[in-house]
Amino acid sequence: CGVFGIFARGRDDIDVARTAFYGLYALQHRGQESAGIAVSDGRGIKLLKGMGLVTEVIRSENIKDLDGYMAIGHVRYSTTGASIAVNAQPLVFHYLNGMVALAHNGNLVNAEELRKRLATYGSVFQTTTDTEVVANLLARYSQDKLEDALAKCMIDMKGAYALLIMTEDKLIGVRDPLGIRPLCLGSLDDAYVLASESAALDTVGATFIRDVEPGEIVVIDDKGLRSLKASNLPYRAHCVFEYIYFARPDSTLDGINVYKARRELGRQLARENLIAADLVISVPDSGTASALGYADEAGLPFEEGLMKNRYVGRTFIQPTQQMRELGVKLKLNAIEEVVKGKRIIMIDDSIVRGTTSKKIIQMLRDAGAVEIHMLIASPPTRFPCFYGIDTSRREELIANKMDKEAIREFIGADSLYYISMEGMFAALKRDDKFFCTACFSGDYPVKI
Ligand code: 5GP
Ligand code: SF4
Ligand code: MG
Repeated sequence: CGVFGIFARGRDDIDVARTAFYGLYALQHRGQESAGIAVSDGRGIKLLKGMGLVTEVIRSENIKDLDGYMAIGHVRYSTTGASIAVNAQPLVFHYLNGMVALAHNGNLVNAEELRKRLATYGSVFQTTTDTEVVANLLARYSQDKLEDALAKCMIDMKGAYALLIMTEDKLIGVRDPLGIRPLCLGSLDDAYVLASESAALDTVGATFIRDVEPGEIVVIDDKGLRSLKASNLPYRAHCVFEYIYFARPDSTLDGINVYKARRELGRQLARENLIAADLVISVPDSGTASALGYADEAGLPFEEGLMKNRYVGRTFIQPTQQMRELGVKLKLNAIEEVVKGKRIIMIDDSIVRGTTSKKIIQMLRDAGAVEIHMLIASPPTRFPCFYGIDTSRREELIANKMDKEAIREFIGADSLYYISMEGMFAALKRDDKFFCTACFSGDYPVKI
């Protein structure tokens, strides 16, 4: 998922709903199932949300009605909770002292346990999302100042969360103690902006200030910005998969630019596996930066061997296997003039289920490629993610069921190589005290 928030009190020239719309548009790759914006004018919160893309849900004629001086927004793909309208975010609640809107990116590993506990004390639920669990947890401390209530909730909440909370007069951003999911802070003159990725700040013309720290609560209101450290651990667990696949290349998350990270992963892949071939191609778009890095390091030409239909969304994000398979064909096509008669190195960021690779390799063979060597800019994805990336089911992960040779055969490549774990750390210039790598290593930073 992706979240975006803006606080622009006293800035009548800033249309917060429209700004949130553009911010969410920049985060569309983080979720395509539903979108929503909640706006506060200091007296109450208005909400616009629904199923579909940002541009389908938030239309010009409706934005006009959303006036106020702050807003939060959300784009969703379902990791917990079904892909249905009621689970669209932000969620809005009436609390003891007014309305509150919440938008959440991540996944609580103990949501079910908390839900049961809350239900035992009389809470009722409308949705199957973690976000509503957080809202109810928070409601139990309604007598406290919101940031203190949040700090208390953070003791109970286990897992990954980048949360935006908007009351009628405050905007709050929270990041889990390990900083698993990203969240950054920017300014737009004297207005503040919070977003999942820095690219969304660029899009709305905001200046990057800093990342929200792991375990930090930032509170923005009339008095300005203040910060509270709810926890302070000596290590972090930023999701390494954000760099490999999920985030935009033009984003910088926790000090690492995504494009550069991918390029370095590609170079490292070449250092580890130099293969005789005529050219390097990528599986666009997520494999492209790594393919460029590989080509550069190997001294081979990079070519566009596959064309992507830019009007088709991320295939992986479609929830069912059938939709995913159709998605690959809609999305990619081989360029025969490039690949015919050639020995090809093809780079992709990851293999999850193997659907994409298998289909593409067949496409390339049909277009006349003579050899296809598949190189992957991440280690084998062998373990499910419980922190908000949709690889949750272990049975679906091809590297969990098969060894490398069996995967090679399944996808139909002439050879198959993955970057090593050490190589990945070397390329990113950080270690396992900085990243979560659980989907590769099985080392879960928050117990499941
Ligand atoms: P597969 O087809 O092997 O199941 O998925 C791998 C391909 O899907 C890669 O091209 C990767 O870029 C893309 N992909 C899209 N969404 C995701 C995701 O959430 N996780 C992973 N690992 N790959 C994804
Ligand atoms: Fe990211 Fe993988 Fe950790 Fe999930 S398990 S948070 S995808 S690194
Ligand atoms: Mg891809």
